[in-house]
Amino acid sequence: MIDSYKHKGLRKQLVETIKKKGITDESVLLAIEKIPRHFFLDSTFQNHAYEDKAFPIGAGQTISQPYTVAFQTELLQIKKRDKVLEVGTGSGYQACVLLEMGAIVYTIERQKNLYMSTKSFLPTISYQPKMFFGDGYKGLPAFAPFDKIIVTAGAPDIPELLVEQLKPGGIMVIPVGTNGIQQMISITKTKTGEVIKREHGTFRFVPLLENKADDK
Ligand code: SAH
Repeated sequence: MIDSYKHKGLRKQLVETIKKKGITDESVLLAIEKIPRHFFLDSTFQNHAYEDKAFPIGAGQTISQPYTVAFQTELLQIKKRDKVLEVGTGSGYQACVLLEMGAIVYTIERQKNLYMSTKSFLPTISYQPKMFFGDGYKGLPAFAPFDKIIVTAGAPDIPELLVEQLKPGGIMVIPVGTNGIQQMISITKTKTGEVIKREHGTFRFVPLLENKADDK
């Protein structure tokens, strides 16, 4: 796969687009400028990789719209060495944005095919998050607590187990809602363990499925 000057130019334009939409965190913008998003898409969609749109990645799932990736990541206020849990690995693009920002990334996916293909693909472009196959609704208790948690599928509610796996002082970002439309919610756990929720507008995600690890 080639990352040409044309691709780099298109990425710069994409960064300008998401800046205009309100993203200001320089480290998020730099990560998006650096990562070749066209590598994460099927050949059918490669020419569209730098449009600010979501695209199918197989198994009925999607790679999130770049603006949505940037918006969720900005809310996380990532610092270098933050230990981050991502629920919904999908194509691996969001995980790479977090890695590029210096986070230590644990990511979990419930679709076996997607898990397998992303697990073999990411090292070929030198990104190595810690990848897990399973039900992210339950988090990763063996590796908790996390500084930050990001859920990249629409959750029917806020999974209590995920809130428990957040460090005091930590932030979780999760789209919550059913019927294909969700409210973006940030959850901050104070040093004393109090939980503060804030709403950040509506988005559309594929659903977060509970109690299923699909090994088809
Ligand atoms: N972050 C991804 C976007 C993935 S779309 C990217 O950058 O490409 C959401 C993903 O969440 C899908 O791959 C879906 O299979 C997965 N998912 C849904 N419910 C899940 C669950 N309970 N545990 C883990 N992954 C889940």
